[in-house]
Amino acid sequence: MFGANVIAVPAKDHGHDLAAMLKAITARTRIVFVANPNNPTGTLAPREEVIRFVNDVPDDVLLVMDEAYIEFLDDAVDLVPLIRLGARKNLILMRTFSKIYGLAGLRIGYGIADAELVSALEKIRQPFNINLLAQTAALAALDDDGHVRKTRSNNFGGLQFFEKAFRDLRLEFVPSSANFILVRVGEGERIFEAMQKQGVIVRPMGGYQLPEWIRISIGTPQENERCLGALKKSLTL
Ligand SMILES: *Cc1c(COP(=O)(O)O)cnc(C)c1O
Repeated sequence: MFGANVIAVPAKDHGHDLAAMLKAITARTRIVFVANPNNPTGTLAPREEVIRFVNDVPDDVLLVMDEAYIEFLDDAVDLVPLIRLGARKNLILMRTFSKIYGLAGLRIGYGIADAELVSALEKIRQPFNINLLAQTAALAALDDDGHVRKTRSNNFGGLQFFEKAFRDLRLEFVPSSANFILVRVGEGERIFEAMQKQGVIVRPMGGYQLPEWIRISIGTPQENERCLGALKKSLTL
């Protein structure tokens, strides 16, 4: 929309190549986006690599760390202290209530950044961009540790369920740190359509240059069973 020139850095083993991203930064680079854990791969960049990257991105480049899935991790890299200490004034952490909190329909999220950066964003923020009901729900959600714990544990169980099933089916998959898993089924689009006819919606990955893959979101144990049944049936059609 704003005529920016987008530079994409190729992934390595389905994950971010942070060293290559750093090398791709030039004097003309204004913003760098990193989603960690990443979507649609579910990959997690190693802790030391993230810390090095965050420290090495030049001070005059805005670094946006998209942490939409961070609450699903047991032991996430905590970048908040870098902001609190004023050590990284170019860093903004982006969070959402759409994922672990299950409030996608309320359209609410938040960012964590240095006060100076936040006031710059305030100048261009749309008025009334967040409604009161969404804010009330979001504040309540932040205190709902029980929900987060339960959802995280359901997610770990679901990931294990699908990983075992994929091994049994001899399907290649990408080990995930998010609430979905990427699996190589052959003809992604055909499997997507066949599963949809059985009432199960997965995401074909042609748009991400992965036409042989689908992305499956983790559900409840019953939903996971039903999804696997639909996948197995689709594979034999
Ligand atoms: C879901 C998601 C978001 C946030 O989505 P909203 O519903 O707009 O808050 C951000 N980044 C990634 C990578 C996501 O998958």
